[in-house]
Amino acid sequence: MDLSALISKRSVSINGSGIRRVFEIGAKIPDKVDLSIGQPDFAVPDRITSAAIRAIQQGRNGYPLTRGIAELREKLARALAADIGWKTNELPGHPEASSGLFVTSGTTGALMLASLALLDPGDEVIIPDPWFVLYPYMGTFANASAVKCSTYPDFRMTAERVEPLITPRTKMVVFNSPSNPAGVVSTEQECKDLLDLCRRRNLILLSDEIYDEFTYEQFRTQPTAADPARRRCPSPARFPGAEDTVLLVRGFGKTYGVTGWRLGYAAGPRKLIDEMIKRQQYLYVNAPHPLQWGVLEALDVDMSDHVAEYERRRSLVVSRLSAVTDVPTPGGAFYAFVKVPDRLGFAPEEAGEKFFQRCVAERVLIVPGRTFSTRDTHFRLSYATPIEKLERGLDVLVRVMKG
Ligand code: PMP
Repeated sequence: MDLSALISKRSVSINGSGIRRVFEIGAKIPDKVDLSIGQPDFAVPDRITSAAIRAIQQGRNGYPLTRGIAELREKLARALAADIGWKTNELPGHPEASSGLFVTSGTTGALMLASLALLDPGDEVIIPDPWFVLYPYMGTFANASAVKCSTYPDFRMTAERVEPLITPRTKMVVFNSPSNPAGVVSTEQECKDLLDLCRRRNLILLSDEIYDEFTYEQFRTQPTAADPARRRCPSPARFPGAEDTVLLVRGFGKTYGVTGWRLGYAAGPRKLIDEMIKRQQYLYVNAPHPLQWGVLEALDVDMSDHVAEYERRRSLVVSRLSAVTDVPTPGGAFYAFVKVPDRLGFAPEEAGEKFFQRCVAERVLIVPGRTFSTRDTHFRLSYATPIEKLERGLDVLVRVMKG
């Protein structure tokens, strides 16, 4: 059988994730320091795992509603009202609200459904460069295209950088703060300018806030709706009336260390949310049922000690590496996007890959910049690794960078 005649051109155009390739190379290296992994290294709080186990034992294993269990939707609606001030249709007493909310199969599920609900063939979605690995395919999967907005060298996705890329085919701008791979946190003004631009040009602003909990103290600048003394990561969602323009996407996987549970949520204009739910019925059916009972508990668990620990590691990374190269200070997430120093003499189109190979020879894993970008001048380092390993890895990186 000639399968290659059958497989779609669209499928062939999709590359395997560069992160998976690093994973496979790493699997053959004993006693390595792995700074490539994008998931937290802390244990999942007992309260969350116990609630999920209980749900399975109590027989909560069948199909729930596509939009998620009512208890979780209501809790999320209350949390969102307190944080960003939105009164969604899931908030008791607001069934006619013009904004909606539902539970998704991971943040990925929300991103995919947003593309399918908004993009027709030939349409455009503007994404940051460097990007999270799924973003370019948000175009491809919908037979549309992803237009890359270069954010080099400071990795800030600003309205000024986005505006020249808007065409009559643009439907959506994808924004991610704290960002993967750079850990950059946008300012309130940057969020507001992007919101204003999208509103003026009739575009959905998808705000991917999967790392919002991992925002370090100094970068938590925007007051929450319910408590002005409580400050969080700036978000375009927190400006008055944003719910007609912003599609807010958040996840549980990174925050609570349950990336394998595949749970997230999306909130935004009701019409768009209803379209996304319609597609979820056929694509994912529902997010994992018993695990929704687990994350119902998660919203009451305080993760601030873990965030403080990551902040300490972030400071170590910046202080060690900024002596030998350029590192825009990460304000959140658990990544740094680091320039391969010119002194190493690598060609700019393959500096990340060459640097990666040198590190592999020293049993340290990082991810070359080309995995996240049209350029290959940088590499991504994840510091979601115990401090002793991180220190060992940084020693090697500094030595290699000194040439
Ligand atoms: N957005 C960003 C910016 C990410 O880094 C990731 C995961 N690495 C995702 C979305 C997808 O997360 P999930 O596992 O919840 O699908």
